[in-house]
Amino acid sequence: MKNKYLELFENLSNRLDLYHNETKNQRYVQIMLERRLKSLPENEGDVYEPDKITRKIIYAIDKNVSLDDIDSKEAQQQINIRKIQKYLSDFVRTQMDSEILNRVGYIPVIKVESSRGGRGNEKAFWLDIEPVELLLPSEALEDEDSPDDYGEIIYVREHSSTIKPSILTRIFFKNGELKMYSPKGLLLTALMLISLLVDILIVLFAVLFIIFIKDLPSLSLTTALIILAFIPFAYMNFIWFFKPLHHLMTHRISKAPLLFANINTDNADIEMYKGADGYRIARITAFTSICPICTAPIELADGKPDQKQPLVGRCREAPHAHVYSFDRMTLKGYFSGHKGYLK
Ligand SMILES: [Zn+2]
Repeated sequence: MKNKYLELFENLSNRLDLYHNETKNQRYVQIMLERRLKSLPENEGDVYEPDKITRKIIYAIDKNVSLDDIDSKEAQQQINIRKIQKYLSDFVRTQMDSEILNRVGYIPVIKVESSRGGRGNEKAFWLDIEPVELLLPSEALEDEDSPDDYGEIIYVREHSSTIKPSILTRIFFKNGELKMYSPKGLLLTALMLISLLVDILIVLFAVLFIIFIKDLPSLSLTTALIILAFIPFAYMNFIWFFKPLHHLMTHRISKAPLLFANINTDNADIEMYKGADGYRIARITAFTSICPICTAPIELADGKPDQKQPLVGRCREAPHAHVYSFDRMTLKGYFSGHKGYLK
């Protein structure tokens, strides 16, 4: 039987790679994991010797300097164990596969040494596991008896495999993923810029055409209509192709342009990650939640015209009344409508 510690930690490590971000708490968890995974026996049952670590050690690994060069005080100020614990438990709840957690029956946690401690003493802590029942918050949210809370929602990230690919996605994205510095990524960026240039030329041409229309005597109505039909084409290209892609590069998240989602798929978003190797990766996904007011699905949508943020969560049934903010890092959303709902 595979060591359940190993199985959980390997899965956590994969998930952290998949949802890599630039928060320091994620880095600290990764440092602990990497060290832990090095010395975990493959098949020796569930024997577990905690790999105790201190803030000073983590800080030294993170800064890539020797332990002697680390100021203990600075390490203690910079590294907050409670925050790392909270980060891990939030990550486990929102990003890990609940199927695996339930099958193994445990969740990864960070345990802190209780005996030593106090001021000046270096507290040791380590990765460990707890029964899955201790993962409370999501259950608490579903509790029927708790008072209705319309104020806050939690988004979930749909896996890219549940989103049907379109032809363009299949060309550019591999398994729902596109590395921006690969030839295909550069090609897409080039296409984006060329399409903008073509749009500008079409608009310029159309303006000139309208100005000089009287000076073109032998112009048939059909020709005029064909020429003018380029304007909506340029407009659609700008709205559905250029704008979402540009938004993705600058805001790290965007609705999938119409071309990138399948017509049969209701909802798709593209998210930009900075991969572990420093290169940007675009990934197709979908953020959804359930509207606490009416229980219809909530999907990401344009914040315009009624919201200040560019992307918000809108209820499918009442898209302009049941509106929530969206935070891709915490996956939380707060109600941004009339306060009367919250009573
Ligand atoms: Zn609703």
